[in-house]
Amino acid sequence: MTPSTSIYIHIPFCKHRCAYCDFNTYAGQEAMIPDYVNALIREMEWIGRQEPGINVPTVFFGGGTPSLLSGPEFASVMSALSSAFNISSDAEVTIEANPGTISPAKLDSIRKAGINRISFGVQSSNTEELRMLERSHDFFTVIEAVSTARKAGFDNLNLDLIYALPEQTLESWQTTVKRVVDLQPEHISAYALTLEHGTPFGKWSQRGLLPIPDPDLAADMYEWTMDFLPQCGYAQYEISNWAKSTLENTDRHSELMCKHNLQYWRSLPYLGLGAGAHGYAGGYRYSNVLRIKTYIDRLTNAKPPNAHYPITPATVNHHKQSLRDDISDYMINNLRLVEAGVADSDFRSRFGSGLMDVFPTEIRELIRNGLLEKKTSDGSEVFKLTRRGRLLGNQVFVKFVG
Ligand code: SF4
Repeated sequence: MTPSTSIYIHIPFCKHRCAYCDFNTYAGQEAMIPDYVNALIREMEWIGRQEPGINVPTVFFGGGTPSLLSGPEFASVMSALSSAFNISSDAEVTIEANPGTISPAKLDSIRKAGINRISFGVQSSNTEELRMLERSHDFFTVIEAVSTARKAGFDNLNLDLIYALPEQTLESWQTTVKRVVDLQPEHISAYALTLEHGTPFGKWSQRGLLPIPDPDLAADMYEWTMDFLPQCGYAQYEISNWAKSTLENTDRHSELMCKHNLQYWRSLPYLGLGAGAHGYAGGYRYSNVLRIKTYIDRLTNAKPPNAHYPITPATVNHHKQSLRDDISDYMINNLRLVEAGVADSDFRSRFGSGLMDVFPTEIRELIRNGLLEKKTSDGSEVFKLTRRGRLLGNQVFVKFVG
């Protein structure tokens, strides 16, 4: 039987391409949205025929800017999802949204279509920083977007932030985090800016034109965040993610973690639909063709399925995972879960051997260097990143690469 499998749906449209972004997204191609939605539906139908009855606990519309789809377009995608898959009645269904692209009517319609969580790309509360990132909103737009979402009945909101921006000071970052906490979202994500090769930011930085904070300042920002957010009722459960730990006197912490991303971090299967989407299902890692037009053409002209699950006419790369690949991915993903860590009992039930049988030298060395710690939970040994390990995650993960 196919295990519970999450679904990621990529919406590769943006009004403008931001200078730091290396996602598979395109500006000025919105005229293709209706054809793209039809192609997405064909891809769902294709997989639904290959592997009927897959149970789906979470759906995530990422981008790009998913909020550029209209309410009726979301409704037709959600209806096709329900026809092709067995979507859980309590599924978490998230869309990423730019604060400036929503209206009460749109939020109302997407809520009716079955979306119950919104992740707003806030990035900063500082107007200069937002302008430098080439984002089209300001913080007042964010305040308005959160208020509109609340009025439309959304009770599960994430606000996404980026720190270590060019010319950003510790004080400016602290102001952003405090303003975001004032809005009382259920979830906060904070990622350090990465300068991706091929983006304008990457090129400007190579030429010395971008005054990026030094790594010590970036570490100060991260450490301050790790100390501050728990004081405000947000518990860190992943290297870059915090969920409210108490809400109206009820402990909803585990309920408010992003269930979709937990599927990735627990190395559980997910399908990637849409142009450039990646998936991990049926023992394969695979990715779809990047270009929107090619994606549409491949699905429009597709013959009845002859490829095996999860390969579709949109797939351009696929790779059968070896046991060693799965073990490496499991370690790298699960160690990101700073609260839960990697439990020896879970590792054994999945791979048939204990952690200390497979990685004795690596684990001892990481513990000796203060990057990993051993605890006991529910009668099992659990290995977790230390505070220092959270700062130096890549030094830990590289030890488990096969
Ligand atoms: S809005 Fe988001 S996805 Fe689109 S270009 Fe900007 S950063 Fe990239």
